[in-house]
Amino acid sequence: MTENCIFCKIAAGEIPSAVLYEDEEFRVILDVGPASKGHMLILPKAHYADIMEMPEELTAKAFVLAKKMARKAEEALGCDGINIVQNNHEAAGQTVFHFHIHLIPRYKKDKVGLGWRTGTLTDSDREELVRKLAIK
Ligand code: AMP
Ligand code: ZN
Repeated sequence: MTENCIFCKIAAGEIPSAVLYEDEEFRVILDVGPASKGHMLILPKAHYADIMEMPEELTAKAFVLAKKMARKAEEALGCDGINIVQNNHEAAGQTVFHFHIHLIPRYKKDKVGLGWRTGTLTDSDREELVRKLAIK
């Protein structure tokens, strides 16, 4: 556990939370500041600040668990869609620096503000980005 990390304390049960699932490696809780009804957080019990620090196998397990909880949300809440969001670093909106996955149930006509204005992929960007980002 990392001292003064709120999600370490929640994952360890030292700070109360609404627990939806628990195993040796994860806790799934309700977000106290929900974007929509049923907003959940998937927390590993071990402290990793973000996805860059997470071991591969634990990352894979976290997303499989996200899928399970998404299915449960559809069945139990009858939501119309679900966003799976995972923020890394302040510039991307991360405020708690302990890896977590958001599951945000979506309802037709809800007011959840996720999204962006689409740009245009220019020829020069495409060429540069393929060169820089392609993994061989
Ligand atoms: P992020 O901005 O991706 O780091 O998300 C942090 C999330 O943690 C926010 O959606 C908060 O509402 C949520 N949060 C902060 N403190 C608590 C808490 N004590 N219990 C449950 N959720 C929390
Ligand atoms: Zn932590």
